[in-house]
Amino acid sequence: MRNFSVFERFSKAFKDHPSLTRILVVSTISGGGLIAYSEANASYGANGGAVVETGTKKKKVVLLGTGWAGTSFLKNLNNSQYEVQIISPRNYFAFTPLLPSVTCGTVEARSVVEPIRNIGRKNVDTSYLEAECFKIDPASKKVYCRSKQGLSSNGKKEFSVDYDYLVIATGAQSNTFNIPGVEENCHFLKEVEDAQRIRKTVIDSFEKASLPELSDEERKRILHFVVVGGGPTGVEFAAELHDFVTEDLVSLYPRAKGSVRITLLEAADHILTMFDKRITEFAEEKFSRDGIDVKLGSMVTKVNEKDISAKTKGGEVSSIPYGMIVWSTGIGTRPVIKDFMKQIGQGNRRALATDEWLRVEGTDNIYALGDCATINQRKVMEDVSAIFSKADKDKSGTLTLKEFQEAMDDICVRYPQVELYLKSKRMRGIADLLKEAETDDVSKNNIELKIEEFKSALSQVDSQVKFLPATAQVAAQQGAYLAKCFDRMEECEKSPEGPIRMRGEGRHRFRPFRYRHLGQFAPLGGEQTAAQLPGDWVSIGHSSQWLWYSVYASKQVSWRTRVLVVSDWMRRFIFGRDSSSI
Ligand code: FAD
Ligand code: MG
Repeated sequence: MRNFSVFERFSKAFKDHPSLTRILVVSTISGGGLIAYSEANASYGANGGAVVETGTKKKKVVLLGTGWAGTSFLKNLNNSQYEVQIISPRNYFAFTPLLPSVTCGTVEARSVVEPIRNIGRKNVDTSYLEAECFKIDPASKKVYCRSKQGLSSNGKKEFSVDYDYLVIATGAQSNTFNIPGVEENCHFLKEVEDAQRIRKTVIDSFEKASLPELSDEERKRILHFVVVGGGPTGVEFAAELHDFVTEDLVSLYPRAKGSVRITLLEAADHILTMFDKRITEFAEEKFSRDGIDVKLGSMVTKVNEKDISAKTKGGEVSSIPYGMIVWSTGIGTRPVIKDFMKQIGQGNRRALATDEWLRVEGTDNIYALGDCATINQRKVMEDVSAIFSKADKDKSGTLTLKEFQEAMDDICVRYPQVELYLKSKRMRGIADLLKEAETDDVSKNNIELKIEEFKSALSQVDSQVKFLPATAQVAAQQGAYLAKCFDRMEECEKSPEGPIRMRGEGRHRFRPFRYRHLGQFAPLGGEQTAAQLPGDWVSIGHSSQWLWYSVYASKQVSWRTRVLVVSDWMRRFIFGRDSSSI
């Protein structure tokens, strides 16, 4: 049970230790204005204790997962009508964007995690079970779980939990593409434990390579670090490792000098393909200057204990001796989600399909968000006849420009691809859209659009349907959105605020989820970062590194982790990274 709010703890700490004030001020300045970014709505609540409600029985929400999506849902849920049962094998939230920094000790593992029992609002009754869900049964509204600790309260390892609403936020797992030897011989970088294992293995490699009576060839093999996957995580890890080696380790391990090699294998033609071309080019050039060997068009085919085989596009297979491999090639589906997808007829998909309100398709009261789910955006052409008849208010069988214009707001909310299409074609409005479809002279206000012309005007808009990336940004926004929907469930049942239902009567309860892209970073080492912000604004270099520091400090889930992360950065600036093998 928590008696203190975080601010009460803070003021007590400041009273007891006045020097803390000075440290925080310094941290704030070094964080490049993190105060400005701090989230005012972060709050911490009592857990577990039942709150007695007058009359109404609380609805039970079972939340699976304590990652970005689940934690954001929990932080934002603010309605005492719910009791939340959190189930996750991990009793903490982990700030994954800083995991590459944990692999080299730039930031300590405990600085990027926050106990889940510290998260959540005071007025929402929450409790946590450390267990993994292995089966979801929508028919009986139960989830089946396995305790990580071995035993649950009734002496059994397995137990079931009932729900009124189920929120699935179990994330994804690393994808090995079933390539032989990957599972057994590679490190993954997904969890905090992975990052800690990598850190220890790097140091152990340097210690091993410093032992006497080792052949040069063996020393070179041990100090050959291979990263597979040129996405943001692989690139950032390679950059961090390069900094760790050149800034800290080489001077401590003189025997290792000249023997260390970092290779990045990427199957595509470039690294960081999800970024602007300018960033990709800069990153490839920087890595080449730094001596990081980027092998493009290299597809890994097999990993043995001491060597890795890769095939070039021309079909040439080479075998490269290595000391350590970090595998970072993307994500796959967790078994519990695969099993659930089979049950609900989604067996052939990669992730759980939800509607635009994050409800799992084909189910009631089950929601999925974050990396385990994708939104199946409804296509305009699937509903085009229904849209036409809804817009044709006077039921004349034709649409006037005015009728079309009046329906446009609802169409744009329900089908965001329409707006994207207009933007992509630099069109100002519907009139332009009709012009492109070569309908009658739309400058005349008295046009009457037939269904065929209407279909032709909208025929291309679905090409703009966008799939959201599997990122923390998407997961966090979805968690916050779903919590707001839960908060206002009753209110919006009575007075719905969503767009008109094209098939059926009335309006949708809520506006659909809309993702707001705030930009992305690619740290490239040597205190240089590439930033791509909305509007394709690209900035690369030291100034973006400061932006990165302040954004990442501001995005921390609590003041405690924010202070820890900033002080870790300061420690690294002053003393360098710690190379103890613990
Ligand atoms: P997760 O955060 O993975 O959380 C899943 C949760 O479910 C965990 O608590 C897990 O323990 C729990 N769980 C798993 N199985 C079960 C089960 N069977 N039952 C119950 N609970 C279960 N994104 C960005 O936007 N920017 C970045 O800079 C960035 N950097 C990254 C760096 C690294 C190294 C990694 C690995 C990812 C990075 N990402 C980044 C991606 C981001 O971390 C993910 O998109 C995000 O974590 C997805 O959130 P989630 O809640 O869906 O899943
Ligand atoms: Mg009409």
